[in-house]
Amino acid sequence: MLFDITPKHNRKDFFDREEEIEKLKELRTPILLVLGLRRTGKSSLIRISLNELNLPYIYLDLRMFEQNNYLSYKEFSLELQNEINKLANKFPYLIDFLKEIQGIKIFGNEIKFNWKKKERPSFSSILSAMEKIRKKVIIVLDEAQELIKLKGINILPSLAYAYDNLKNIKIILSGSEMGMLYEFLKIDDPNSPLYGRAFSTIELKPFNREKAIEFLKRGFEEINIDFKDYETVYEKIGGIPGWLTYFGFTYMEKKDLEESINLTLEYAKKLIIKEFNNFLIGREVARKRYETIMNLLKECKTWSDVKKALELEEGIEISDSEVYNYLMQLMKHSWIKKENRNYCVSEPLISQAFRL
Ligand code: ADP
Ligand code: MG
Repeated sequence: MLFDITPKHNRKDFFDREEEIEKLKELRTPILLVLGLRRTGKSSLIRISLNELNLPYIYLDLRMFEQNNYLSYKEFSLELQNEINKLANKFPYLIDFLKEIQGIKIFGNEIKFNWKKKERPSFSSILSAMEKIRKKVIIVLDEAQELIKLKGINILPSLAYAYDNLKNIKIILSGSEMGMLYEFLKIDDPNSPLYGRAFSTIELKPFNREKAIEFLKRGFEEINIDFKDYETVYEKIGGIPGWLTYFGFTYMEKKDLEESINLTLEYAKKLIIKEFNNFLIGREVARKRYETIMNLLKECKTWSDVKKALELEEGIEISDSEVYNYLMQLMKHSWIKKENRNYCVSEPLISQAFRL
């Protein structure tokens, strides 16, 4: 069902995006990037492609760490260990390759990693073991920008090693916070292990008016509901597929336009505030300033408008570099975008959340 509010696993439940699915399934480069704002359908796109490719894979959903200030290698490897155990259930001979690795122990059919600093298994050796399955193996790191918080280990050399040497390993990195993902990968930094590598990149944009309306039409047709107010929904909710899906799902239950729009806006507001609070972790001292900026950028504004607003509020001078830093942080985390000389919120519903 198109209006199912969980990530989709089958193409029949997923509207449009045919080209994007095909492009991902080609697995053209050893590392692939799936980019797009939150709720544009990245996880669904990946799940559907995995389903259709029918290749061995592990899937790490790193969103679970979005409230963490930092991430230890132990937390990361625990997830990895779980996923590898699931894979080894399907490919029992994987255990034979894994048990050769220093720092991995086998208990029955289960593998366990050693956590001690000098004894833990390296990420490269785990990838090398998976290479030996002799089929393409897909490693999904969903919301990979969270790995920037990984402390005590740098996994970029392992990713670069896999890129250059492990022909069967395909790594899919998705990211809602595109600036952070690029910062993590340091693709443009000549000193970074991944410097100069090519990546097949798939970006999911929000639906435009026409697509959004077609999506709603198809969704309502599928559940046999007679609906006409497509334009109103697009005006109020915009083109982020996740919000439109939530609207469709709510309307299915309530059958009332205004109520369903309001419930969708309320839900969006709550989630966005929660996510913004995660962004503020470690930035508490500047909370008020970030909120002022978000409030202001409901309408597009220039850099100097932002500076003036901040200074007016506090009655003190705020340095150019500070203002620049706030805007950069918000951009890297996809809260705002730059259009020509203006800064604006990255999607219309963000304005709802900051309505005072
Ligand atoms: P992301 O991983 O980018 O945050 P998800 O894949 O979790 O996005 O999708 C968010 C919500 O929107 C889910 O409920 C999903 O089912 C729905 N959705 C996203 N894109 C589509 C689409 N093209 N067709 C149908 N539903 C979609
Ligand atoms: Mg996702």
